[in-house]
Amino acid sequence: MNLQDKVIAITGAGQGLGRAMAVMLASKGAKIAVIDLNQDHMNETLAQVEAAGSKGRTYACNVADEAQVEATFASIGKDFGALHGLVNNAGITRDGLMVKVKDGVVSKMSLANWQMVMDVNLTGVFLCGREAAIQMINSGEGGCIINISSISRAGNVGQSNYSAAKAGVAAMATTWAKELARYNIRANAIAPGFIATEMTSAMPPEVLDKIVAGIPLKRMGMPENIAQTVAFLMENDYMSGRVVEVDGALRI
Ligand code: NAP
Repeated sequence: MNLQDKVIAITGAGQGLGRAMAVMLASKGAKIAVIDLNQDHMNETLAQVEAAGSKGRTYACNVADEAQVEATFASIGKDFGALHGLVNNAGITRDGLMVKVKDGVVSKMSLANWQMVMDVNLTGVFLCGREAAIQMINSGEGGCIINISSISRAGNVGQSNYSAAKAGVAAMATTWAKELARYNIRANAIAPGFIATEMTSAMPPEVLDKIVAGIPLKRMGMPENIAQTVAFLMENDYMSGRVVEVDGALRI
């Protein structure tokens, strides 16, 4: 796909990886539908999209809310006339051991923390993927969907909820690649390792130091490393049904 004048929606584009993707795709001429919860953050992303030489619009939307997602993608279709790409990037963490033991069981992961992560990281991806596919099928122009998974999809201590959701979005990308190929829609996932964003800066420094020491490249990735991979998957018309790991060789 030549990104010039293509319309790409990015969820969670108010900061972090989503913002870096918006700027990278805008620099290649794509128009960006910025989807997030925080209007101020989205305005800043839009300013950076314009500074990169393109245009976009912002859409305040909770990706876990079906009615909001349906209305948002219908608006994107109307506002831009078509939708060619979606990056399902919005995500949250609510980490904790499933069962914490210290002289006996002291706590357990709450159902609320399990459900919150499932709602945003798994159901949100399903809803946005479904509505984007409808726009792409109706336009007849095909398209490309990218789900942001994680190295944690293989299983990570303290992340029963997050790991399960990230495995799920990788599986959905493969499923959609098979289901939607007949409409010339491709689907892939990216599984980042540890990338320097607001999400990882919230981790305790001593935990981060330990993690970085275990990364063969001995450094965290930058948001631009993930944005480059998004651009590659959008542009390469024969990439579909795959999970691309971008993790400095952390995953064995
Ligand atoms: P981030 O800095 O926390 O940004 C996530 C964005 O998603 C925020 O702008 C947040 O908005 C938005 N968001 C959260 N819940 C939402 C909802 N229900 N509806 C719409 N938007 C919502 O995270 P990041 O590090 O850029 O991560 C982006 C994606 O990459 C996530 O899916 C994450 O799991 C994945 N990932 C990140 C890393 C990493 O090392 N950073 C590694 C592997 C995978 P608010 O701030 O307003 O809540």
